[in-house]
Amino acid sequence: MVKFRELNLFFLVVWLGRAVTETPNAEIPPPERIAVIGAGIGGAAAAHFLRQYFGRDVQIDVYESGTVGGRLAKATISGQDHEIGAATIHPLSLHIKEFVQLLGLKERKHPNNLLAVYDGEQFVFEESEWFIINFFKLIWRYGFDFLRVKMWLENYQHKFMRIYQYQAQGYSFTTMEKLLQVLGGDNFVQMTKHSIDEALQEVGISQRFIDEMVGSIIRLTYGEGVNVNAFVGMTSLSETESDLWTVEEGNQLICSGLLYSAKVNLIKGKVTSVDAKERPRRNGEVVTVYEVNYLVGPHTDYGAYDIVIVAAPIQSSDPEIHFRAFSQPIDVPRGRYQQKFVTLVEGRLNASFFSYHGAGPFRPTTIGTTVHSGNFILGASVSAPVTRGTPPARVWKVLSPEPLGEEGLRHLFPSYAAVRQAQWLAHPRYSPDDRVPPFVLHDQLYHLNAIEWAASTLEMMAIAAKNGALLAHHRWFRQLDKIDQDTLQEVKVEL
Ligand SMILES: Cc1cc2nc3c(=O)[nH]c(=O)nc-3n(C[C@H](O)[C@H](O)[C@H](O)COP(=O)(O)OP(=O)(O)OC[C@H]3O[C@@H](n4cnc5c(N)ncnc54)[C@H](O)[C@@H]3O)c2cc1C
Repeated sequence: MVKFRELNLFFLVVWLGRAVTETPNAEIPPPERIAVIGAGIGGAAAAHFLRQYFGRDVQIDVYESGTVGGRLAKATISGQDHEIGAATIHPLSLHIKEFVQLLGLKERKHPNNLLAVYDGEQFVFEESEWFIINFFKLIWRYGFDFLRVKMWLENYQHKFMRIYQYQAQGYSFTTMEKLLQVLGGDNFVQMTKHSIDEALQEVGISQRFIDEMVGSIIRLTYGEGVNVNAFVGMTSLSETESDLWTVEEGNQLICSGLLYSAKVNLIKGKVTSVDAKERPRRNGEVVTVYEVNYLVGPHTDYGAYDIVIVAAPIQSSDPEIHFRAFSQPIDVPRGRYQQKFVTLVEGRLNASFFSYHGAGPFRPTTIGTTVHSGNFILGASVSAPVTRGTPPARVWKVLSPEPLGEEGLRHLFPSYAAVRQAQWLAHPRYSPDDRVPPFVLHDQLYHLNAIEWAASTLEMMAIAAKNGALLAHHRWFRQLDKIDQDTLQEVKVEL
């Protein structure tokens, strides 16, 4: 059922995608230079859509201070490459699917994991390989909560999928709130304003299910508790579906492929500021030009642009990019990003650390921990190498808010052959009081990562990228009827 729906939508998105850019207003000259700051999935997808909408003549410069891919990255352990950043892609990620097809990359099914939930004393739930056994185990412990949560989730997913049709018709939104309002009305907007705990309690889900199952899944995906906003909670729960997938040879290939096909100039530099400059045109009109200042090693340089897309996280508490000489202060997020460590370990997990003294071998391949477990890890799962057919070494991926250190490693693994660790500013530190900042920072200055304050995933960034490119296009050519249209709710969408 989902597959048929997904396929239909996919073709619809591809087909309607062609219709987005009507012939632009001939009286307005097109932009000459566009800057994209960041070459993660947000920046790479933005470059792709900008090239599609503005044509081949515009110069697109992409600034990257680290590595192309950003939070999509792989690491080599014991001779095999593993994802050490974002690993899985949801089956309904239609933009990412389109990129993968366009670039001729190969999808690869992510192995289904066997989940065990640890509450600090014991495993309160342990998944079996047999569907029917799981069904009865879930009913025994949680009644029908798991089915009710599944239905609740599907209802929201169904509404969220409307975004593809609206984007395919060229509609764009200046804030997340306006976008959510069009997708599902006030109910949907409220998703970012109250916690997943409250949202699930409202539909009668037991606290036990919320704390144990929902809580451990949110810790595994976002490293937080059930007080995250309901939208993040919903996104997190979607990660438990089967049919998750990944890109053969590494998800990062999507970013490098999109940058290559969009024919961008990649500038390896760290942007330090964006300054607004007023410049007169020959016809007397005064326009704003954005000066992007950047560092390459010890040297500073700059470029001047008509349009700037910021596709990197901005934290007002620790600003890496300053916005100078704007007549109004720029509205950047007030919160912080959350630190997360991902440690790949080739070794045998110490099951007795989790008070597991079962007679047979330890079967779970994903361990979730409840917030009350007091555990120093957020969770762990068996990691599959990115290359098909590589003989599997048992590599565990351990997630923790602090580095594991020697002691942590010794607790978890009596012996290990190799260790690789990455530190991420993984995603915003969520709370239901967060305000999702606007996508538009100034006339032609956009911030894609505002969407992360609703939820942070690859597909969300691709949606933000398409929205940002559409906004830039429509605002440049003054096609304002395609921006923040709230009558879209009346469009009937058959999925
Ligand atoms: C450990 C981990 C696991 C995850 N798992 C999943 C998952 O399974 N599925 C999923 O969908 N999502 C997952 N995510 C979330 C997902 O990775 C992010 O939502 C997404 O990658 C964000 O992409 P982005 O392009 O917005 O940001 P980034 O990937 O962070 O890219 C921003 C880029 O901008 C560059 N940059 C920053 N500042 C500057 C500057 N001043 N000048 C120039 N360049 C700059 C950075 O170097 C970086 O390359 C995970 C994230 C983490 C950390």
